[in-house]
Amino acid sequence: MTAPAASEGTRLRRVLERELREGCRDRIVIGGLDRLFIQAAEDGHLGDLPGLQALIDRLPAGGYRNLPHTAREKWLGAAIRAVPAPPPPASSAGSHGPLRRSSAPLAADDPITRLPGLRGGMAARFEKLGVRTLADAATYYPRRFNDFTDVRKIVEVTASVDPQTIVGAIESRKVQRFGRRFGGTEAVLRDATGSLRLVWFNMPFVAKALSEGQRIVVSGRVRHYRGRLQMDNPEWEEFDEAMAAGRLIPVYPATQGLGQRTIRKTVEQAVRAVAGKLIDPLPARVLEGERFETLPVALRTFHNPASAIEAERARKQLALREFLAIQVAVLMRRAEWQGGIVAPNLEFRDGLPAYVESLPFALTGSQHDALDDLLHDLLGPRPMLRLLQGDVGSGKTVIAVAAMLAAVRNGYQAALMAPTEILAEQHFRTLSAILGGEGALDGVFAPSWFARPLRVLLLTGSLTAAQKRSVRGDTANQGADIVIGTHALLEDEVEFPRLGLAVVDEQHRFGVMQRARLRQKGANPHLLVMTATPIPRTLALTVYGDLEVTTIDELPPGRKPIETSWVTPLERDFAYAGVRSRLSRGEQAFVICPLVEDSDVLDARSAEEEFQRLRAGPFADYRLALLHGRMPGKEKDAIMSQFAAAEIDLLVSTSVIEVGIDVPNATTIIIEGAERFGLSQLHQFRGRVGRSDMQSYCLLFSTDEEPGPDATMRLKAMERTNDGFELAEVDLDLRGEGEVWGRLQAGANSMLRVARLTDRDLLYRARAIATDILLGDPQLGRPEHAQLRKSAEPFLDRATEAN
Ligand code: ADP
Ligand code: MG
Repeated sequence: MTAPAASEGTRLRRVLERELREGCRDRIVIGGLDRLFIQAAEDGHLGDLPGLQALIDRLPAGGYRNLPHTAREKWLGAAIRAVPAPPPPASSAGSHGPLRRSSAPLAADDPITRLPGLRGGMAARFEKLGVRTLADAATYYPRRFNDFTDVRKIVEVTASVDPQTIVGAIESRKVQRFGRRFGGTEAVLRDATGSLRLVWFNMPFVAKALSEGQRIVVSGRVRHYRGRLQMDNPEWEEFDEAMAAGRLIPVYPATQGLGQRTIRKTVEQAVRAVAGKLIDPLPARVLEGERFETLPVALRTFHNPASAIEAERARKQLALREFLAIQVAVLMRRAEWQGGIVAPNLEFRDGLPAYVESLPFALTGSQHDALDDLLHDLLGPRPMLRLLQGDVGSGKTVIAVAAMLAAVRNGYQAALMAPTEILAEQHFRTLSAILGGEGALDGVFAPSWFARPLRVLLLTGSLTAAQKRSVRGDTANQGADIVIGTHALLEDEVEFPRLGLAVVDEQHRFGVMQRARLRQKGANPHLLVMTATPIPRTLALTVYGDLEVTTIDELPPGRKPIETSWVTPLERDFAYAGVRSRLSRGEQAFVICPLVEDSDVLDARSAEEEFQRLRAGPFADYRLALLHGRMPGKEKDAIMSQFAAAEIDLLVSTSVIEVGIDVPNATTIIIEGAERFGLSQLHQFRGRVGRSDMQSYCLLFSTDEEPGPDATMRLKAMERTNDGFELAEVDLDLRGEGEVWGRLQAGANSMLRVARLTDRDLLYRARAIATDILLGDPQLGRPEHAQLRKSAEPFLDRATEAN
């Protein structure tokens, strides 16, 4: 028998003996003996105590608690006999208990299995959380804290957005339907002072996990609902004895079969053993200069804070280190991209005025500024690395075209990569229009205002093999000046001997590696990435820290702000009537169908149903069409062209349909099931209208009269503002878990373990420190920067990869 089991056995035996001595009243351990048994089983301690295990298995349903008082004494006697007696004191003279199991002191890189009582099975579960070594465990950060310095009685609970913590027993729980389709859990929690309704939206499984009479601790927001208080989507866990001490108890990200207690214990042991031995990535010079706390101090405090203020201060110390690692990584990547070979000089001063003159509109001030930034970068010799962000409809395309023309003007090729075929095709049409029209043969254009004729080709996955071959051949032999395409551009067979500029549209769908592949096709091309997702600065610096950012923050003149309204089921018919009157005037509308699941098939089916319903009902007198991601490319294209030509009044589509679609005559967008979409997506959908001087409308149809609190906040924010940057910041500040600013934020959030995107000051500080350090030691080759380099490594190719 191994030492830890013996020691656990000893502990269990002592508890059982005391229970027997004190009259079998089950008052020895908070939560009762059953709680102790469950924990022992969870921690793998019963494996070596088969006799006890068998006795526990024989307990009635509900456990020791339900064993009649008269039967307890006998059961305890048997249980005590089933646990080996503690070893005589003499035998432990040479060792001081389990911690000294091995004579070598614990090192940071040792596996956690060197900790006493941690068995192989547990180690495998820890591995799932990315925790293998003691250092990993010591830096495994709490997701939040349960504040036992401030446990409320139910009678004290008030409506508030700040989370409140309550301990109570489950009185009842059931699966409940809140919407048309999705079930959740409703439960009643009771303590000595009263009862409180708990609601978990979309989480029917919680009902199964709870049992009546179970003592749990919940923490969450409380609001008034129909005249009573209710806690929404609380975090919860079973109450355990350690919580009674009146501290902040860390709550760690957990996994199946690995409970909070085991994680807490392991982390605590690891911190004690190795926190002092971890090397701080912050160089000592910076640490002193900025008066930061040392790593061990911050770690110890963060895992075991005495107050919320202390926890937050420690978190910031650790967050700074995390941001620093990311900033070092993105800045090194930037240096690498810009180092080495010289980028071409794409001078365009002579051609620009004629191009701008040829456009059917005057550029906005913002567009002029963006052009200045870009054309300056394109002079080389350092390759441009620029992110052009601007809300949908702000007119990024004409800017990108100017840059591409600059490349062509200087004898180089330009590539424009879009995330989908529809967008690639739309860019091709836009470019055709700018270059002088439809009639161009074989992709050759000869605008009178440009120095020479140029050839523009389209390369997408839906071309035939022969067509692709021909486009590739022309590209390789410099028979193409501009190539627009999808991911197909990245394929190995595609060669761009004179690629001078790569433009990537809707960057957040591409990662660093794809960018790198595009770059490798040319000598050392300039890079322009564009996004319509308004990215808050903290987010941009985190995931696009290697890019310089230009923002177009002005819409073309004459655009009227879109009127946005949240429409509940009861107001629907009235809203449809408004849409019909606009369709009758010759305007057009989009209907976006709700997100069903992460499934093309189901999405397509629900769009089909909606299409049939609208065609048979409210829009029977109009021309309707359906568009979804599972249709063949040709068919999609045909429908889009018909819609663009106003041969279709109302287009029903799934949410996968591209963000950049430009149909100025479309003035209404209806978003069905709007409560299911995140703010960024709602805002992008809305950007499909409001592209002319006509008044446009965005109707957010919710499935329920009262969607959940988060959804309500989103819908109201949409009604309040049209400014994407404001929405992005709102989203960032209000965000509850699971609510993200598009995939981008999801990517950033999966990257950040302790820092938050709302830690703006910390991020700027980290950026400044990183810049400063790299200035003196660009490769981080100095010994005092070795640990910083190590901490940056995971981010070197991950940063934008994560999204
Ligand atoms: P996005 O930034 O979303 O890619 P586009 O480049 O597609 O926007 O531009 C949206 C629409 O606005 C297009 O029809 C474009 O021709 C038009 N546009 C662009 N700039 C201006 C401007 N300065 N004045 C008027 N219309 C403009
Ligand atoms: Mg666009």
